[in-house]
Amino acid sequence: MLICFREESLENDSLYLPMRYNTTLKCSVARTINLLGERWIFLILGEAYFGICRFDQFQKNLGIARNILTNRLNYLVQNGIIKKQKYTDPPYRFEYKLTEMGLQLFPIILTMIAWGDKWIAGPEGPPLLLYHQVCGQLIKPVVVCSNCDKEIKVSDISYNQKVVSCSDFDNVSYTMRKFGQKSNASCSVERFVNLYGDHWTFLIIRAAFFRVRRFDQFLKEVGIPRSSLTYRLRALVNNGIFEKKLYCHHPRRYEYRLTQKGKDMYPLILTTLRWGDRWLAGKEGPPLQLIHKPCGQIIEPLTICDHCRHEIKAWETSYINGTGASENRSSG
Ligand SMILES: [Zn+2]
Ligand SMILES: [Zn+2]
Repeated sequence: MLICFREESLENDSLYLPMRYNTTLKCSVARTINLLGERWIFLILGEAYFGICRFDQFQKNLGIARNILTNRLNYLVQNGIIKKQKYTDPPYRFEYKLTEMGLQLFPIILTMIAWGDKWIAGPEGPPLLLYHQVCGQLIKPVVVCSNCDKEIKVSDISYNQKVVSCSDFDNVSYTMRKFGQKSNASCSVERFVNLYGDHWTFLIIRAAFFRVRRFDQFLKEVGIPRSSLTYRLRALVNNGIFEKKLYCHHPRRYEYRLTQKGKDMYPLILTTLRWGDRWLAGKEGPPLQLIHKPCGQIIEPLTICDHCRHEIKAWETSYINGTGASENRSSG
């Protein structure tokens, strides 16, 4: 079963996710995005990492319709990311707590926040400041190779399999959110998802990290319909993730290359791959393995604190509102 959701549905809140994600996809990024690639899902998780666990708190902080929130929480429970626990005597009330699988999604959210703070926070600065309780410093996540402890750079990676086509998405009906829309979102996760919370977009960016550059290559590797690709590439150029480079004069043809802003998404792609490999790969193991060239080992990315070099865990972080925060947030 595929998750199908449409732009207008996100706007008018009339949409429900099916309960289970698609298990036939052959790449961990595709699987993870298929499981989580929806704006509300990311936003609910973002709140959960900040300690929110009760229905009314989620509802207040996100301004989400109650029926949509119920649907998304049930979806997360069904897929093992959140567990529902009683916290009163009858009449029962419930709390929603992250499972181990959910807690380990944290590096994805963290790398997303770091990217959002750097590239889309605007002049008013980051909306939230995250602290590492282990060392007391502001968190700057770095994704390193767990074998050799070096930061993982795009150029240091090779992979042992051709990029897997994600043609499984062919029959997904999906149109984009208003891409590039200015966002007043209160956290970088929300800003990020407003801009890129679309699995096609994420898969196009992923393909670019595997050196896919030309229109026809994207078409083939991502398995995306032509018109959807045209639209997304234009949006990615307008948003400064890709730049267009002329590579043929007659006829005029362009390549799409990652800008620095685009390249900075790499830790996010890595943490997404890692999580998908661990939790969604199934018996046959990860479909695509990345090799860290400096040490020659299969990459096990680890998200560590730039300051103390310890792995960053969700329960060892705290946050305060930054200069770019809006006022309507409450903490749990
Ligand atoms: Zn290494
Ligand atoms: Zn630290």
